[in-house]
Amino acid sequence: MPACSSFKAAITGREEYRMPKRSAHKKQTDKVPLKEAAALNWRAFQIWWELSPRFFISTTLFALVSVLAPYAELYLSALILNELSGARDPQALLRLAAVTLALAAGLALLKAGLSRWKNACSDWGIQWFQRRSVYTQKLLSMDFSKMDDAHTHDLLSQIRQNDQWSGWGLARFLWNFEEGLTAVLKVGGGIALTVSLFTLPVPAHAGELTALNHPLFVVLVIGLLLAVTFLAPLLANKAERYWVEAAGQAKFGNRCFNFFGMFPFDRERALDLRIYRQERFCIKKLMTESVFCPGSPIARVAKGPMSAYRALGAAVSVLFTGLVYVFVCLKAWAGAFGVGSIAQYVGAVTALSGGLSDLVSALGSMRNNAAFLRTTFEFLDIPNEMYRGSLPVEKRAFCEKGDNEYEIEFRNVGFQYPGSSQWALRHVSLKFTAGERLAVVGRNGSGKTTFIKLLCRLYDPTEGEILLNGIDIRKYQYDEYQSIFSVVFQDFQLLSVPLGENVAARAAYDLARAEACLEKAGFDGRLAELPEGLDTCLYKDFDEQGVEISGGEAQKIALARALYKEAPYIVLDEPTAALDPVAEFEVYAKFDEIVEDKTAIYISHRLSSCRFCSRILVFDQGGIVQQGSHEQLVAEAGGKYHALWHAQAQYYAKPEAEPV
Ligand code: ADP
Repeated sequence: MPACSSFKAAITGREEYRMPKRSAHKKQTDKVPLKEAAALNWRAFQIWWELSPRFFISTTLFALVSVLAPYAELYLSALILNELSGARDPQALLRLAAVTLALAAGLALLKAGLSRWKNACSDWGIQWFQRRSVYTQKLLSMDFSKMDDAHTHDLLSQIRQNDQWSGWGLARFLWNFEEGLTAVLKVGGGIALTVSLFTLPVPAHAGELTALNHPLFVVLVIGLLLAVTFLAPLLANKAERYWVEAAGQAKFGNRCFNFFGMFPFDRERALDLRIYRQERFCIKKLMTESVFCPGSPIARVAKGPMSAYRALGAAVSVLFTGLVYVFVCLKAWAGAFGVGSIAQYVGAVTALSGGLSDLVSALGSMRNNAAFLRTTFEFLDIPNEMYRGSLPVEKRAFCEKGDNEYEIEFRNVGFQYPGSSQWALRHVSLKFTAGERLAVVGRNGSGKTTFIKLLCRLYDPTEGEILLNGIDIRKYQYDEYQSIFSVVFQDFQLLSVPLGENVAARAAYDLARAEACLEKAGFDGRLAELPEGLDTCLYKDFDEQGVEISGGEAQKIALARALYKEAPYIVLDEPTAALDPVAEFEVYAKFDEIVEDKTAIYISHRLSSCRFCSRILVFDQGGIVQQGSHEQLVAEAGGKYHALWHAQAQYYAKPEAEPV
């Protein structure tokens, strides 16, 4: 069972909840070839460089100072110790001590200043917003069909979960960069201070210990040190691979946690939760069946091979330090250098080895992270296939009442949703002119919403064309073309911000215009009662004084929002579904006043509410089967409209009553 279906099953409880199979997540956990991993990391660097060059500059300067300062201090203290155990010249000692102190103080100050700057440039919250902006920009600039696609949402959800789970993806790149850079500098400083350990010869009088000078011995020691140095991070990376391989399960676990763990806090579910005591199965899913519970495969791996690899890595590091001490002390014992240099060499070799380990670990982490960057770039590389023209749309023209020169025409339009072989619309041809009032009626699934989506160019027709003033709408500037439509969708959303901002869809707005739109939408009575007027917050999420509004009131605000946009075309999808009969009557009674000279397209199930429209389009099975005025259509006995009209009428109390 794929992860998403078992997730659905976990939510609905209709199917047995099962852990996703490993093969279901093969792609993300595959080891990425080196060349591809390098290219992916380079792309991540380019993205971040554009977002925040200051991060790289501050991190590099901080790493330079913080890595090289200890080496400088190590070198100077070795000189002091050698002076103490050698010539013991007070003048020289004083000079060395003064230089060491001044340097240490200067570097400490510099490091503190750079640290503040670096922390400001690598603030987690800011970086989170920067990553979000990359994804948001992509989402907003992609074709709507791609944005609506399940695969796009799957990728986004994977990216979000990877990010939440140990920062895999773009966030991890920055950590790896900092770790890698620090490691390279450590290695450079370490090599500079270690070279003389191997080049300073043991004097001839040291007897058998002169063997330490033999090139073979030097190569053997370096080889041994390198082997042990690389073994520790290799073991650590092996342990980390288990996390990468468990990515699918861990992400699934996170999804379950976010759903079942947050379930009881969800206000919209509060009623169901209380009545059906749903918290019981939430607890069960979280405590006993979760991917992260003690007996889960992830927990078993963490307790088993993962911790074994980590322990082995730690043991190897200790072994390394022991080896270094033996070699350095032997050379000092044999007289190759002074006692003071023992601390320098041990410190430098240990730091060099630490640097090499960190480098291997950073490179390993970069490679592991490449699998997650792949997903990020798969999302960012989703191509836009819609042609975006360059013709300007002259909005002015649509506002000139009665100017029939401007018209929209559907010419034999057919449409199949991406991935579907069914025609959602077929052979649709019609024209409508500025100022017209069109009603679109039909049963569920007959193609009404699809018609609107094509009109607003959320999708392009699969066959045929849509023309604006005789020119294919694909040739107009995309954003400008869309800006001529104001749509109240059935599932519109209002925000928890002040009422006026909701209406204007921006923070700075024209108060009088917002009030006028609310009045037209029939919200004026309620507006007068609101304590802060337009400044009253909707809902209580961010303001305790916020007001709760009913479904009908929300619909009126959504209508006011559509009017505020002052777009020449207004599309209303069941705009009165949540209104009570009185409010509904008021909206119809002043519909002409509400939409003024705009072209209005009105989708409704309630046929009686379409009577004020000059033309009614009847949709059935993806086509327009009838069109005309209410009187014409109702007179066509045997027509779809006639059947729908009488089907609605029979549900109302009195046989002679009109459908509502
Ligand atoms: P209506 O608005 O009249 O209820 P729609 O325009 O929403 O009808 O749907 C027309 C047809 O297109 C239906 O068969 C529906 O199942 C199908 N459809 C709608 N949206 C999608 C989609 N995103 N992907 C695939 N098919 C869809």
